[in-house]
Amino acid sequence: MNRRDDTAHVHPPKRSEEPFQAVAMPVERASTVVFDDLESFERRVERLYDGFSYGLYGTPTSRQLEDHIAALECGSRALVVPSGMAAMTLATMAVCRGGERVLIPETLYGPARDMAERFLGPLGIEAVSYDPRLDASIAAMIDGRTRLVWAESPGSATFEVQDVPAITAAAHKAGALVAADNTWASHLLFKPLAHGVDISMQALSKHAGGHGDLLMGSLAVHDHALFRRLKDTARFLGYGVSPEDCALCERGLMTMPVRMRHADDTARKIVAWLSGRPEVAQILHPGQPDHPGHAIWKRDFAGSAGVFSFVLRPELAPLQSDVLRSLRLFRLGASWGGVHSLIAVSDPRKGRASLDWLKPGPVWRLSIGLEALEDLLADLSRAFELFAEARRNGTAAADAKAAE
Ligand SMILES: *Cc1c(COP(=O)(O)O)cnc(C)c1O
Repeated sequence: MNRRDDTAHVHPPKRSEEPFQAVAMPVERASTVVFDDLESFERRVERLYDGFSYGLYGTPTSRQLEDHIAALECGSRALVVPSGMAAMTLATMAVCRGGERVLIPETLYGPARDMAERFLGPLGIEAVSYDPRLDASIAAMIDGRTRLVWAESPGSATFEVQDVPAITAAAHKAGALVAADNTWASHLLFKPLAHGVDISMQALSKHAGGHGDLLMGSLAVHDHALFRRLKDTARFLGYGVSPEDCALCERGLMTMPVRMRHADDTARKIVAWLSGRPEVAQILHPGQPDHPGHAIWKRDFAGSAGVFSFVLRPELAPLQSDVLRSLRLFRLGASWGGVHSLIAVSDPRKGRASLDWLKPGPVWRLSIGLEALEDLLADLSRAFELFAEARRNGTAAADAKAAE
């Protein structure tokens, strides 16, 4: 081997300068960023917020996705981070210091509640839970140490809609910032920044990714100083995103409105079917007139995501496992917002005092994908036949017992 070949292997011919334009987002990979002169190299730290200094702090691909999200959220800047959870931890740590308080609704995404209690707690940041149905009355809970109020509307698993504008006004009056986990609605159905919220957060892993193969989160803001605080904190935590994931996310965004409209349409028809079933004790969907916060949802939201829950009659709990196993299209899985329909079973009552309105029984959360409505209904009908069969057998057994 000729040793001089080594150099040629690491220095490919210079790229053609011929202009190239495509509709797809170009993927530009880099850890190392190089500079033409010493002065630009030495001043690279100044480029942290707007330019390129090191791959971890942004590539043209990640910046393009961030600019796109900022525009969709009607904000001035956005930051993309490795997951929705990373976004929630980052936002809270950027705003709160030891000795300060953060208010979190009881309906906040479970792992984030856990993070607030078990990770931020020992760091001296006290997380205090509040009833998601509080409106301006949340003011009574905001003291001089409260820096941040989280909202999640509608809330995880049970979908109570919060009065985000009223909560935001009360928080601002008391000098606290507001962050909203807007994953369910996304920027398409609710724009938190337009309602005064300071930080709009989304798990892009859900609707934007949309295919069950991407993890990413975003934070969008109006305020440049707040953006810098978030960006600094992301740097200290070493958060970065891969350009491939950014391009995948960008591709997901392009079809997201069509997918969300379709999923909502199918979901509403499935809600109608479930409403007529004797196995279902309660439907948990913001579009239902008797749902907590329905009027606020109608006032503030431009529609529904295809994600909702229902309460199964408690006496059917022992049959759940068989029924879930018999489903062919709906798969058991904890994520949502993708092209595949999913079911997640939970007990949201754990650690929540604000569920007096919820009927007893297991809660099934459905995320409706892009399968045909007829096929999804056939899948549910066949599985629900197992419930019906058990009820007939149970009645027959009870009749036989009564006849003895
Ligand atoms: C999934 C989810 C998150 C977390 O997102 P990941 O990207 O999975 O970490 C946060 N909030 C809500 C409401 C979610 O559904």
